[in-house]
Amino acid sequence: MRVGCPKEIKNHEYRVGLTPGSVREYVAHGHEVIVETKAGAGIGADDDAYRAAGARIVPSAKDIFEKADMVVKVKEPQPAEWAQLRDGQILYTYLHLAPDPEQTEGLLASGVTAIAYETVTDERGGLPLLAPMSEVAGRLSIQAGATALQKANGGRGILLGGVPGVPPAKVAVIGGGVVGLHAARMAAGLGADVAILDRSIPRLRQLDDIFNGRVHTRYSTIDALEEEVFAADLVIGAVLIPGAAAPKLVTREMLSGMKRGSVIVDVAIDQGGCFETSHATTHSDPTYEVDGVIHYCVANMPGAVPITSAQALNNATLHYGLQLADKGLKAIAEDRHLRAGLNVHRGRITNKAVADALGYEM
Ligand code: NAD
Repeated sequence: MRVGCPKEIKNHEYRVGLTPGSVREYVAHGHEVIVETKAGAGIGADDDAYRAAGARIVPSAKDIFEKADMVVKVKEPQPAEWAQLRDGQILYTYLHLAPDPEQTEGLLASGVTAIAYETVTDERGGLPLLAPMSEVAGRLSIQAGATALQKANGGRGILLGGVPGVPPAKVAVIGGGVVGLHAARMAAGLGADVAILDRSIPRLRQLDDIFNGRVHTRYSTIDALEEEVFAADLVIGAVLIPGAAAPKLVTREMLSGMKRGSVIVDVAIDQGGCFETSHATTHSDPTYEVDGVIHYCVANMPGAVPITSAQALNNATLHYGLQLADKGLKAIAEDRHLRAGLNVHRGRITNKAVADALGYEM
């Protein structure tokens, strides 16, 4: 199969669908790989690195969309890209179609077979191609929070780990899933005093085992939430109710009980956020203040660290990418987890949640 990787064109997207390491794997499986010139510039991989891995460099995205049997990307196709997709071609990328009727129409009209990273499943009911980005965002949330807590950035001016003789800062993590685990791990590693709140008792047990007393866990009631949030210097919002908007767990009223100069990092902002006062921000202007509380609500946090994010994403996408390249559509028929990723096939929506969200018949 001829596998193609265009340069990402979405604003401030520096990741790349195929790293040189992934290209080498596809080539080792006997596939031809074409990569748009400068596709890896954002992760420091130049055209020579791709050539050394066995790719052929092409001058424009047009060459990729015209010639590739399968297009591997990171972000959902932009209008200029979906106009070039064609019947019989495979598209393997994040799509997030449910809130995006325009892109959906574009994909349906193109005749493409589109597999969405975010709906591929695993044996344990997890979303293995989404998890690496939650790991990145969770770890990054503590770096972002620690920076915002510095006085010159509007924060209280407290160091997360304290120093000998001075107590550490308090961190409350709301939601102990993938984001929450990785946030708690970073915060505890820096020496902060960490609490994780969750609604799942089995998950709280698991977290208790993992941290072995280093972090304390709490069942998330309004009482517990208020107590932890009012005491915290840094609050991380990391809840998810799959398929639904994030619940507004911290109300505007609760904000008045928080310390002046404390910081909220609302990682769940891509699902609407779990603080009533959250609204999405960007890497170029990441924070704002409400009632003396600094809010950091960047919707695409992994974009800040493309070298790590692109590598983590490729680690997760490579297995199914190779299956698709080796077997074509047969790979989808043979594997129910990959089939869960199939969102659009030859003018039809093939994922029930997406069809329901957009009001299509399946
Ligand atoms: P996850 O499913 O692994 O974890 C979510 C956790 O929230 C679960 O443990 C669940 O029990 C818990 N929860 C649900 N309702 C709760 C409540 N009322 N109180 C306390 N806990 C509750 O999800 P995840 O992968 O950790 O993702 C968390 C959020 O971060 C999602 O909205 C995801 O889209 C988002 N995210 C954002 C970025 C970004 O760049 N901003 C990047 C990655 C992920």
